[in-house]
Amino acid sequence: MISRRASGVEASGIRRMFELVSSMEDPINLSIGQAHFDVPEPVKAAAVGAIRDDVSRYTVTQGLPELNDAVLARLAERHGYTGDESLITCGVSGGLMLGFMGLLDPGDEILVPDPYFTMYPVLASMCSGVPVSYDVYPGQPLRAEDLAPLVTERTRAILINSPSNPTGRTLTADELSAVGRLAAAHDLTVISDEIYDEFVYDGPHVSAIGHVPDDRLLVLGGWSKTYGMPGWRLGWAVGPEELVDAMRRMQQFSFVCAPSLVQVAGLAAFDVDMSKEIADYRGKRDRILAGLAEHYEVASPGGSFYMFPQLPPGFDGDGFLEKALERRLLIVPGKAFSARDTHFRLSFAAEDDVLDRGIEALRAIAEDAARG
Ligand code: PMP
Repeated sequence: MISRRASGVEASGIRRMFELVSSMEDPINLSIGQAHFDVPEPVKAAAVGAIRDDVSRYTVTQGLPELNDAVLARLAERHGYTGDESLITCGVSGGLMLGFMGLLDPGDEILVPDPYFTMYPVLASMCSGVPVSYDVYPGQPLRAEDLAPLVTERTRAILINSPSNPTGRTLTADELSAVGRLAAAHDLTVISDEIYDEFVYDGPHVSAIGHVPDDRLLVLGGWSKTYGMPGWRLGWAVGPEELVDAMRRMQQFSFVCAPSLVQVAGLAAFDVDMSKEIADYRGKRDRILAGLAEHYEVASPGGSFYMFPQLPPGFDGDGFLEKALERRLLIVPGKAFSARDTHFRLSFAAEDDVLDRGIEALRAIAEDAARG
C-alpha cells in the first residue's frame, strides 16, 4: 500500500533506545540528544504571554518579520553576514527538508558526512536524492582533495555539520574554506547545519559564513538545543535568494509556518544569556574526558554535547551495548550514525552524578574486557 519512498524509511536506532529507557528502572542515560536544562523562564513567559494575547493565527510563511530581522542581525554581528534572505522553519529538520527539496532532483547526489546525524541520509533519500558519504571521523582532516573524487555530474550539494552530532568535532576555518573552494569549483551548494553553534568549548564558533561564498551557502540553525526547547519546533535558514525563496514557497504548501507562539518565544530567547549553561557543559565534557582517558580512545569534542569514543578492542556495537545495558547504561552504537561499527556515541547532556555513574560503568566494562 505504501510508497517506495516510505518503505525505505526504517525507525531510527535512537528511537529504539528511547523505548528501552522507558522500560528500565533508574537508567544511566547517556543517549540523549537534547540539552538537559529547562527552557529559560523569560522564554516560557513570552510563550505564555503569546497564548494570552491570542497569538494563535498563522504567521506569514517566512515567519515574523522581527524574528527574521533578529536572526539576520545576529549573523551579521557574529560572522559579518551580509545576506538578507531568511526563513523561519519548523526546527532545523524543517529547514533540512525544504533545503533538500529545493536543491535535489530525483537521482541528484548530496555529499553527507560519516559519521552523520541520522536524519541526513534518510531525508536525502526521502527527497529522492542520493546521499554519498565523506569521512569526518576524528583524526581525518577535511580536505578538498579527498572530497573532489566523490563529486560526479549528479552532485548538487555538500552538507556539513559543525559542531557535529555525533562526534562533537568542530571544523576549522581552513576546512570550511576547503569546502567553499570545492563548492565553487564544482558548482555545488553548501548546506551548513550549525544547530550546535552555541555549544563550543575551545574558542568561538567558526561558522561556514565567511569561508564559503554567500551565494553558495545555506546556513541552518535553531533554538532546540541552545534553549532546551526541541519540542517547540523552531529553526531558521539563511541563504541565496533563489533557494530561500523556493524553500519559502514550499513551506507555504507544506508546513505553512512555524508555530506562532514559539516564534514570539524565540525572539525573547535571543535576549537570554546562556553562557552559564555552556560553561557548565564545558565542565561536563572535561569531566567525561578525564574519567575515560585511561580506558578509551576518544577525541576531545570541540563542541555539541556528544563524544564518540572507540569501542574497546574485541567489541562490536551490539556486544558493547549489551554490556552497557547490563549496567543499566544507555549509549548509542556508532553504527546508528555511520557505515562503520567502531565507535559509540555518548551524550553528556546530563546531571554530573549521572555522568559519574556512566564513567564508572564504562570503566568497569573496559576493565572486565581487558581481564578477558
Ligand atoms: N541537526 C542536528 C545535527 C541535530 O543533532 C538535530 C537534532 N538532534 C537536528 C538538526 C534537528 O533539530 P531540530 O529540533 O531543530 O529539528
